[in-house]
Parts: sequence; structure tokens; C-alpha cells
Amino acid sequence: MTMHIDASSHSIDTPAEANVTWPKWPSHDSGTLKIVSEVLESTRWTISGAYTGQEAYERRFARAFADYCGTLYCTPVTSGTSALTISLLALGVGAGDEVLVPGLTWVACASATCSVGAVPVLVDIDPTSLAMSPQAAEARINARTKAILLVHPYCRTADIDAFLDVSTRHKIPLIEDCSQAHGAMWRGRKVGSFGALGCFSMQQAKVLTSGEGGAVVTSDPVLAEKLEQLRADGRLFSGTPVESRLELVERGAVQGQNFCLTEFQSAILLDRLQHLDQQNTQREACAETLQALFKGDEDFITFLRRDPRNTRCTYYNLVMKVGLEKYFPGCTIDALALAMTEALNVQVSPLYQPMNSFRLYNPLSSPRIKNFSNKLDFEPARYPLPQAESARLYHITLPNWVLLGGADSAHRIATALRALAAQPHKVLAARQAPTADAF
Ligand SMILES: *Cc1c(COP(=O)(O)O)cnc(C)c1O
Repeated sequence: MTMHIDASSHSIDTPAEANVTWPKWPSHDSGTLKIVSEVLESTRWTISGAYTGQEAYERRFARAFADYCGTLYCTPVTSGTSALTISLLALGVGAGDEVLVPGLTWVACASATCSVGAVPVLVDIDPTSLAMSPQAAEARINARTKAILLVHPYCRTADIDAFLDVSTRHKIPLIEDCSQAHGAMWRGRKVGSFGALGCFSMQQAKVLTSGEGGAVVTSDPVLAEKLEQLRADGRLFSGTPVESRLELVERGAVQGQNFCLTEFQSAILLDRLQHLDQQNTQREACAETLQALFKGDEDFITFLRRDPRNTRCTYYNLVMKVGLEKYFPGCTIDALALAMTEALNVQVSPLYQPMNSFRLYNPLSSPRIKNFSNKLDFEPARYPLPQAESARLYHITLPNWVLLGGADSAHRIATALRALAAQPHKVLAARQAPTADAF
């Protein structure tokens, strides 16, 4: 069936999208199967097991990932949350300290900060990149500020030069949270290598994944040794492993906990890392095709501006800004995200709820801070985030794997958007209250 769209005068077919499948994610192949079964047979399922005569997959992944990021060291951990937690601990951040955290990001940035006892100071965003604004961040610095937790969000990097400048002038260490940006580049260099520490999540939705997982990269040997102990109950690799004996030795210079990544996860990451660049290139090409399909329709759909210094973009989520008032009058972005989810049969989400009103961010409920004299500094509502609130109203995001489907994916996404714009009452009929979950 063919129909005509008044808004754009394009003629399109309405697809039977509900039956269409998207590229499988997470992806794996025979190499992944082989390496996982090697771990199964090896009798060493984690680094705290005995040395088998063969280098641990965790060590091999750490070396490969440090190399990939252009850093000297990498400490794999159980999750992005534990990467952030041990990074803050390695920098000596604790109770009474403040950490600058973006006002629009996943809750873990704020909750990990609370978990070491520090106050997350919520900072507003730059609406062009959706990343933390360097000016807004600098305005929040005081004598208690002990770290800047900079996220490279969705499909763009933050202004790294501006943050390095703030970090140097105020002598406050920068932690890059690259959980949404594995392989992204700034001036031809990989993200994660600019700050004192670079954190990654390898959770299922991320572009490099082992289901759950994480890593911290750094080129500072003192921080690296602390990170190693912080994640293995104070133990370190001996450097002189003996077969059938434990390889980790008890150092105990810092109070560690167990955040060790299993050998299964490390092996999966070692295997999938080989495909990351190629998949990133595929996603970037698909995003560019989609962008070209809306050229001339900037009042309908626009894409985040790309800073020329952001020399490689990684599409954890593709973000599109929608001319909601013109094309979907009376509709909320949540209703559009829901209608798109149904049309494409894949989760389409609005942006995160700004952190000062994020349902999942409830620091005052935590017993950790109940006796703190600065307890009220944790109150999310005391941090105004007007730019984050405004951005939340107009953007939708698509998950990384739809962009692995090439030009066909781009056409399906564009077609679905145009079909909905031709029948905005369909979107209105969808629920108007915020319901869709951003992830
Ligand atoms: C996913 C994510 C995290 C948390 O990672 P987990 O592995 O889920 O703990 C932290 N920060 C950002 C920016 C993320 O996207």
C-alpha cells in the first residue's frame, strides 16, 4: 500500500514492521564458542583460581584492551558500576568529598559516587552533545570537589579539551566514563586515555559486552596497582606464577573487595574486541545513511552536532531530536518512543530522566549516609538542571544493534518515523505519561 505524507511530500510504503527482526545482539561466532569452551575445560574459571600454566584470559584481555585504548594498564572488573567505584576509591575520594556528575546519565554515576560516601554534585549539560557542560561544571567547583566524572554520552564525546583544562587549572582529577563510547576518538586518540582513569561497562546493551563486566584503564602505575588490589580483596598478580598454585598474592596495601571478572567473561571480551572496530564502522555508516535520509527535513528530525575533534563516534545509542510540536502536536516524547517501539519492534527510548528527578536515584534512602552531617547535600532536587530537562522533551534513542543492519535499517527507521508523522493520532493514542524506560 502506498500513501502520501503531507509533511514531507515523500511517498512511502507502510511496512509490516512488527514481524521484522533486527541484527542479533549480543553477537557471537564460532570463535566465541571455542574460547568459552576453552575456559570451561581449563579448570580456571576466575583469576583467584590456581594457575594452569597458561596466561589467564583476564590478563590477556587486560593487555589487549589497554593496548586498544592507548593506555599502559587495564583492570577488568565485574561491571561499570564497580569500575566507577574502585576509580573513586583509588583517587582517595570518600565521605565529605564532592564529585561532579552529569545531570543526564545512567543512575550508576551518581549511585557509585554515593557508595564511597561522596556527594554527587549534579551538573547541567551542553544541549549540543548532551554531555556535561564544562562551564556549568567549573561553576560548581569548591574546596570539597575531589573528582570530575565525565561521561561520553549516547553517540558523542564530551568536550574533552575543555575538561582537561578545568581539571589542570583546579588540580582535580578527571575520570572518563566511557561506558557508552568504547573505541570513540577525540583528535584521533581513544577516549579513556585522556583522564587520570577511564571507566567502561561491558553490560549487555553496550557496544562491547560480556553480559555483565567492566574495566578501568590508566597509564599511572601507582593508580594501576591500587586498582588491582581494590578489585581482588587486596591481592595482586605475583608476576611469577607456578602451575597448580594460586597466582594472586596477598598485598593488602589498600582495603579491597571482590570485583573480579570471571574467565568466561574475559574470554568473551577478548574475542569480541577483535570485532569492535568493524562493528563501530558499520554503526557509524548506518547512522550517516539515516542522517542523509532526513537532509532537508531539519524541522522534523535532527541529529546531535558532531564536534570535528570527535574524530570517531561510537553509537551506543543513536539520538534523534524530533520536531514534536510541528509533527506530533499534543504528543509527549514518551508517547512517540512507545509508538516507535511498537512500529519497529525494538526498544526506542526517550533520554534518561534528569538525575534530579530520576526515579532510580534515591540517595537519601541509603543507610550509608544516615549519620552524615552533610546529608542534605545528597538531595537530588537541590541541583537545577534546566538544559537536561529541556533536552528530555525532544529526543528519542535507538539501541546500538539496529545500526548493524546497514542501509536497510536506516530506511526502516526513517520509514517508520514518516509513517507515524503521517498519522499523528496513532501516537496520541499511545500512552502520554512517561513510561518508556531509558537504558
Ligand atoms: C552502563 C553504564 C554504567 C554502569 O555500568 P554497569 O555495567 O551496568 O554497572 C555507568 N555509566 C554509564 C555512562 C553507563 O552507560
